[in-house]
Amino acid sequence: MAETTFHTLIANLENYLEYQRDEGVQRLEVDRAVLAELAREPSEEPVVATEPTAAVKEVAVPDNFGSLEEISAHISSCRNCPLFHARTNTVSGEGNADSPDILFIGEGPGADEDAQGRPFVGKAGQLLTKMIEAMGYEREQVFIANVVKCRPPGNRTPLPEEMEKCMPYLRQQIRLIKPRVIVGLGATAIKGLLGKTAGITRLRGTWQDCEGIKLMPTFHPSYLLRDPSKKKVVWQDLQLVLKELGREPSSKGK
Ligand code: SF4
Repeated sequence: MAETTFHTLIANLENYLEYQRDEGVQRLEVDRAVLAELAREPSEEPVVATEPTAAVKEVAVPDNFGSLEEISAHISSCRNCPLFHARTNTVSGEGNADSPDILFIGEGPGADEDAQGRPFVGKAGQLLTKMIEAMGYEREQVFIANVVKCRPPGNRTPLPEEMEKCMPYLRQQIRLIKPRVIVGLGATAIKGLLGKTAGITRLRGTWQDCEGIKLMPTFHPSYLLRDPSKKKVVWQDLQLVLKELGREPSSKGK
């Protein structure tokens, strides 16, 4: 295995384990064969499918985009990080861009989102839509985006350097959309947005600052699909958001 690929694999594994820890997972079952493969030297035969070597071509992201359409056009031809290599579509975000009450931000597109070029359209997206409706909004009334705009291969966690390369787009989107409140979904998105190492379990339910806008961290809907018992605390977080916005919670979320 090429050394860089080996190191990328280890970095991805570290990110994944960190994410699981942050989400409260205390025990993971790992096949002995997997441990044996990980113990191989980088120079030995490849055992894991590798990502193609990305021909990254960095272009500075302007800091004065005049519209979201300009940002989306820039994103669609972006090759600033290796994630461009495996994407089918870029996913810049969608929704009400005219000072919506809420901007929801996740970590990155999955397979369904990559296929459709739209954020949160898979199972986790359907749950997010239910959460939005439980708050008394229609999905079209809020804006939904991700920290990275291209799907990480195999739905792996985006690497810190990939999030760093992509964040200028999101910062520009936030500047133009001007949401009243941001809801950050999951540990990875919070790390990308705030650069904080504290886990989502500690940060959720506490107001943070993102680009001068109040940000509420909470669990990602995909985590709620794996552990529905966490829906209760997410609803508590969303109630804090509604209170900040001066709205009554819908009875649907109770
Ligand atoms: S993830 Fe972001 S920085 Fe990376 S290629 Fe896609 S748009 Fe560019």
